[in-house]
Amino acid sequence: MTISKGSAAGMRPGCAQWLKTSNNISQQFLAFGGRPDVVSLAGGLPAAELYPLAAIQSATQRALERHGPAVLEYGAIEGFPALRRLIAARISAETGGHFTPENVLLTSGSMQGLDLIGKVLLDPGDFVVAQSPTYLGALDAWRPRAPLYRKLDWDLQEPGFDDALARAKFVYTVPNYSNPTGVLVSQERRAALLDKVLAAGTWLVEDDPYRTIQLDGPPGRSILGHYVARHSGAYDGPVIYLGTVSKSLVPGLRVGWIIAEHGMIQALTLAKQATDLSSSMLTQAITLELLEQDFDSEHAKAIVPLYRERRDALCNEAALRLSEWFEWEVPVGGMFVWMRARNQAIDTDELYRFAVEEKVAFVPSSVFDFTGQDRFAMRVNFTRSSPEVITEGVRRLERAIATYVSS
Ligand code: PMP
Repeated sequence: MTISKGSAAGMRPGCAQWLKTSNNISQQFLAFGGRPDVVSLAGGLPAAELYPLAAIQSATQRALERHGPAVLEYGAIEGFPALRRLIAARISAETGGHFTPENVLLTSGSMQGLDLIGKVLLDPGDFVVAQSPTYLGALDAWRPRAPLYRKLDWDLQEPGFDDALARAKFVYTVPNYSNPTGVLVSQERRAALLDKVLAAGTWLVEDDPYRTIQLDGPPGRSILGHYVARHSGAYDGPVIYLGTVSKSLVPGLRVGWIIAEHGMIQALTLAKQATDLSSSMLTQAITLELLEQDFDSEHAKAIVPLYRERRDALCNEAALRLSEWFEWEVPVGGMFVWMRARNQAIDTDELYRFAVEEKVAFVPSSVFDFTGQDRFAMRVNFTRSSPEVITEGVRRLERAIATYVSS
């Protein structure tokens, strides 16, 4: 075996594939979108100018005064005990269920939760049922495990779907304002999917980072909540629920959580121990200070009206300039508009090259698609930039499309 820089020699097939594709793609978008002369509608971030610096500063002070050097140590692998208790109490209140701290594993963002789930559940060749398009980070997290995907079609009627479900290790879904499509899945569909998951005896991973970005009213019950509504007593269900403060507060705290039944939490905890020994106790203690005061709800009151304004700026300008070529649903929450090319007339991988010339970034659909067929849509973010910058971005997109179609 010859090992040279950049060589994939000896790597597992999933890793070698990973090196070739997604890794480069993510880095490419981040690098281009981060240039000051570029209007980036590509990221999936909260607005940095709205980050609550003063609240985080005073929460840090309080956390250090309250806990002293204890928060500067390695900590309990399951997470900061008081924060575990708070998350268990919150999820109990939200769903009406009986969750204890033993149902909670605190993670370094929900991204770590996705990784741990792959470590615990996936062997190469296992099946995962997931929406397509789906969150790129989840595909990245599981790529080294080389799973096979089956598309989750939400009408749940496709021939063979029940068999696929019975063979799947888990179903992965983002029912609230999905990344990348912004779609809010109806309550009926959530309940129907849960029925099928229970009948198939498989796990269901419900990834819910956008829950608090409610632009037109609350999203209703989580799938976890549907399970709890039907089963009383200690939680013993198949739903593995992922939460995070990345969108409700700031991503830099790197605090997320997994809610699951005890055995699954124990397995995930062992996997976490072998990954990072413990998440940062300091940022968990800071998060505790903020959540104890319901600061996330306060913060949502400040940011949601601004995000609504930005969504409207994007959709209104796009209606004027892009609707000849693209169509979309106005999202009722989250951070993205999913624009689909009419009659598959625009290949967004190709369009991206013209967008680079016009100095505007979006994310083409191909990166979110494990079927490898969807090249005719794009994800456009509206939370990160001001309405003026978004408007300018849409103008640049219009110019890029005009050049593309006449080329
Ligand atoms: N899941 C989804 C659907 C996401 O969009 C993101 C963030 N882009 C994550 C998980 C990861 O979030 P975190 O910052 O909590 O790791």
